[in-house]
Amino acid sequence: MHIYDDAVFTMACDQFQVIADYLNIDKNDRDRLMMPKRSMAVTLPVHMDDGSTKTFQGYRVQHHLTLGPTKGGTRFSPDLSMGETAALAMWMSWKCALNNLPYGGAKGGVACDPSKLSRNELEAVSRRYMQEMIPFVGPHTDIMGPDMGTNEQVMAWFMDTYSVYQGYCVNEIVTGKPVSVGGTEGRRESTGRGVVYLVERAMDMLKMDPEKSTAIIQGFGNVGSVAALSLGLKTGVKIVGISDHTVALYNPKGIDVKAADQHVQKKGNLRAFDEGDRIDANEMLEMECDVLVPAAVDRVIHEKNASKLKCRILAEGANGPTTPEADLILNKRWDEVFVIPDILCNAGGVIVSYFEWVQGLQSYLWTETEVTDKLFRILEHSFSQVIRRAKADKVSHRTAAMATGVERVMKAKVARGLFP
Ligand code: GLU
Repeated sequence: MHIYDDAVFTMACDQFQVIADYLNIDKNDRDRLMMPKRSMAVTLPVHMDDGSTKTFQGYRVQHHLTLGPTKGGTRFSPDLSMGETAALAMWMSWKCALNNLPYGGAKGGVACDPSKLSRNELEAVSRRYMQEMIPFVGPHTDIMGPDMGTNEQVMAWFMDTYSVYQGYCVNEIVTGKPVSVGGTEGRRESTGRGVVYLVERAMDMLKMDPEKSTAIIQGFGNVGSVAALSLGLKTGVKIVGISDHTVALYNPKGIDVKAADQHVQKKGNLRAFDEGDRIDANEMLEMECDVLVPAAVDRVIHEKNASKLKCRILAEGANGPTTPEADLILNKRWDEVFVIPDILCNAGGVIVSYFEWVQGLQSYLWTETEVTDKLFRILEHSFSQVIRRAKADKVSHRTAAMATGVERVMKAKVARGLFP
């Protein structure tokens, strides 16, 4: 058995092999590029509110150290495993390289359900996780950020714990912090904003009128909610479907996403929000719409539903929402479904994290406008590169995006050589 044994890791490896074949990467070099450099597993004993002591399993995977420190989010989710963490770290590598960020990919997290922890318990898990990770992370080694199940508060506890142990304030150890403790303006909105910027670019290319278009958004966390608000209120797209882990809602007349967002802020989820018909969450993905944004978990578009998608644009806000089997189907439907692959579509988060890290290291303070302008400039460049390469080589957008990332890492590895 392999320490990364997991269906998501297998999926990330299968995707890599497709790219390695396309790039003609020598068999000798493939594992060196694909396998994670370092992986840590830690056991976190935590005092629970009821007086018991519970142990949680924590992970951190640093995928490669070739281009700079590693960077990536921290996921708190019940079934998190080493394999899933490794897959997510690998995707971070290709994402950072595609967008020319001087990082290797990383990912980490704790197998826990944050919605079942009290605030005190969540703080204890967060602080203990960072404390156990101190020997392995640092502003020039590995910089954590948020991911599913974590937020600005968790990042603040990480930053505080690390700083207390160093004896001075090290706010560049994590990104996605509250602005009050060295976070950057615009980080919280950055992933959703990036998704919408790219959807607008795709609509423009495809000559679609946003005012006459509809969207369905799966997931109403940090990515899905900002994407829904921005697509609905700024771009003028009618949002006809939304969902979270509790409910999926459909309303052909359009859903008031501002009201949905306020509801979630008060109640924590969409369960009792009643603007729309309750439908099956899987069926929602197959409903007619112009833009489909999977912004929740991995592998929701697979070989059984890929041929049934009725969207014109598939904007992948989540990491790994589409399986390689579904890709084979979508590749054949390239003129029906325009895919904005995850490592491009959701890159806004890590791009603005990079800005936050730079500001922290240099003690800069950039305005939200500066941050957003710089974000869009990077996304524009990556988007054009992907579209150009896909056209020139007649490959899918995912292949073009991943190949650009993998190639950059490979070039750096070749230049640095293999020691000894
Ligand atoms: N969790 C985000 C992602 O999957 C980025 C985390 C970070 O900012 O480091 O891209």
